[in-house]
Amino acid sequence: MNRFAEHLHRWHTSGYIQQGTCTLATPDSLCIPRIHNKTAASLAKSVGQTIVIGPSPLPMAGFLVRRAGASTQSLRPRDSETQVFLEDIPVVDANDLEAQLKRAFSYRQAALLNTGELAVCGPTIDRCGLLLACLHHALFVTYLVERLDQGAKLPDENAQLKSLIPLAKPIPFSTLPDDTFPSSLDRAGKALVNLGLVDSVFGNASYRQNDQIRISRTGAPLDDLEKSTVEVSLHTASNTDKKASSELPAHRAIYQQTAARVILHGHPRFSIAASLSNSFNTWPEDVPSIEAAPGSQELGERLAKALQAAPVAMADGHGPFAAGKTFGEALHHLIRLENHCRQQILEKIELSVPR
Ligand SMILES: [Zn+2]
Repeated sequence: MNRFAEHLHRWHTSGYIQQGTCTLATPDSLCIPRIHNKTAASLAKSVGQTIVIGPSPLPMAGFLVRRAGASTQSLRPRDSETQVFLEDIPVVDANDLEAQLKRAFSYRQAALLNTGELAVCGPTIDRCGLLLACLHHALFVTYLVERLDQGAKLPDENAQLKSLIPLAKPIPFSTLPDDTFPSSLDRAGKALVNLGLVDSVFGNASYRQNDQIRISRTGAPLDDLEKSTVEVSLHTASNTDKKASSELPAHRAIYQQTAARVILHGHPRFSIAASLSNSFNTWPEDVPSIEAAPGSQELGERLAKALQAAPVAMADGHGPFAAGKTFGEALHHLIRLENHCRQQILEKIELSVPR
């Protein structure tokens, strides 16, 4: 398997693309030709970037475009992943694909075709993978929020909701070792990704030992932390801070102001959708909600205060931070929150289905 095919395989197993349907083209050669191969090859040359075009495995992509109406030019998801990496998602007409994608790629790295297919462009294949993960997350969360707040609008929407069922099983409660050595940080990262609590390229994890914090590196794949962590001071900022996760300010503030020894942060989709919905009114009482920008000192201060009294707190539209004595304890609280939101959202969606 060549390295391009390996990427496509990983994106398929992560659920970002349908197997065997994606076109991948680089500026110097067309690597994986499928339906849009001519368009992708031509765009890769003219834009000078790697291009990926293909159908989403989620019916949400097509639903969102059709729900928005034929004249819609962009979707504006409100989750923080999209706000940080994309801002909005241009919608382009598949009948005029090359010209419209070229225009969209002049100001955005991702777009949605009005057929429900996805398109991304990036300087590297890894960047394309990050953008596909981001699109997948945005479509899933945005659709759940729309369904909660506006109900079903399309005649085939409810029948196709069945494809959500495998994605909607409760997450099994998993155990993790009670130590806080580097290998358990790696295991905790793998658990977060494998349980679907975050995509590999997002989220962060850390533990505290005396006056030091061992934390995932910025941009590190969370399911491969064995060599992708960094040690920083609990109290003093240094140049090493730049290598740490962008949420280091939050981890540091939490360790300084609570008795926590470990912190886990994910982007679980049902929890995020619940935090963005205007009609979700069964948020668990013991999970405080916080509004503050990702990576900000303000987020750290608010989380630290909330986590003095609660084991998990939710950064609205962004994701929960769980703090505890062990990784197992922190993971338990993330799973508990996500399963609660899953169950409540699925019940509400079914209730809103016209019979
Ligand atoms: Zn985050």
